Amino acid sequence: MKVVIVGNGPGGVELAKNLSGEFEVAVIEREELPHYSKPMLSHYIAGFLPEEKLFPLPSDWYEKRGIDLHLGTSAVLIDRAKRVLVTSKGAFPYDALVLATGARAREPAFQGKEHMLTLRTFGDARRIKEKLEEEGEMVILGGGFIALELAGNVAKAGYKVKLVHRKRNLLRLDEELSERIREELEGIGVEFHLETNVLSASENGLNTDRGHIPGRLKVCAFGIVPNKELAVRSGIHAGRGILIDDRFRTSAEDVYAIGDCAEYNGIICGTAKAATEHAKVLANLLRGVEDRYDFNFRSTVFKFADMNIALIGRTQGEGKWLDEETKVFYEDGKAVGAVVLGNVRRAFRLENAIREGLPID
Ligand SMILES: Cc1cc2nc3c(=O)[nH]c(=O)nc-3n(C[C@H](O)[C@H](O)[C@H](O)COP(=O)(O)OP(=O)(O)OC[C@H]3O[C@@H](n4cnc5c(N)ncnc54)[C@H](O)[C@@H]3O)c2cc1C
Repeated sequence: MKVVIVGNGPGGVELAKNLSGEFEVAVIEREELPHYSKPMLSHYIAGFLPEEKLFPLPSDWYEKRGIDLHLGTSAVLIDRAKRVLVTSKGAFPYDALVLATGARAREPAFQGKEHMLTLRTFGDARRIKEKLEEEGEMVILGGGFIALELAGNVAKAGYKVKLVHRKRNLLRLDEELSERIREELEGIGVEFHLETNVLSASENGLNTDRGHIPGRLKVCAFGIVPNKELAVRSGIHAGRGILIDDRFRTSAEDVYAIGDCAEYNGIICGTAKAATEHAKVLANLLRGVEDRYDFNFRSTVFKFADMNIALIGRTQGEGKWLDEETKVFYEDGKAVGAVVLGNVRRAFRLENAIREGLPID
């Protein structure tokens, strides 16, 4: 069986790893670069990580596993009738085709967007790093995990950082949790401009509904846009992302989607952890082993400067502090999620307990 995977991000790589040896696997990737870690990009920008450490796989990794890797190759169309993927460098017949095309950074809609940078790829990170070293300061737009990771690392490295977010709360968490994160980051020098809407950008700063915020380097880190164009062009159903069922099947026979490009029941997961978990479940399904990914109970761990934070299951609604670091969320008296600040080992135990409905201590 021939499995063709489009995308060499964490979803595509994990799937190729899981299927190699059992199936004939080809990976198609439009970037020329080998696989790199997006979660480490802000560490690289801050100067904590040398460039080569962004590339975790040895150069013979694919060859050793018999994976046929095609870098610098864009997938342009799926010929569903012939079961062939058409690319910029030839056609690839498939028995199963997996779209792991990821997402790109959302661009701002306000005037002056040519004065803003976005962060998604290694090329973006390199540009931002160069400019940061020139300017010595950065303005970041967004209140999600990418914005907070970037702010934390860049401030920890001693640069001046301003974070502008249109909402009051960070990470869509409640007021108390959001405050804890804000205090931690303020402690290392991040200057917050919350409930602030940007009206336009210029070379020298941002005009907002709360006044002018100066800064020549401005980075947008406020959301992603799933790469669904290949699917749409090929007549596959899409909403915000490529629509899938609970077995990662798209509307086209033998075409699947995983990771940031996939949308299940209105959910786009948006994390590397989810993309690799999708890949493991899909690998099982392709080899005929029953498996499911629980889209309604997801968890992730982030690190903002020196603060670890684990988000487990549902993290909104009625919450109670278990101790200084752990807030558990309940629905109808049952624990449905938690936020753990600091002790990530504890988070793993808690995640299991909530998932299995065991007592929480
Ligand atoms: C700065 C930053 C920090 C992050 N931090 C974290 C973190 O701490 N924890 C976490 O869990 N997640 C983090 N993420 C998110 C995480 O990186 C993504 O969720 C993850 O990369 C998604 O994996 P993916 O395989 O679905 O897609 P991607 O990693 O986006 O890979 C998709 C690949 O497909 C290729 N591609 C797209 N279209 C085509 C085509 N037509 N033909 C050929 N190739 C194509 C793209 O070039 C790309 O290489 C971060 C992201 C960023 C940008």
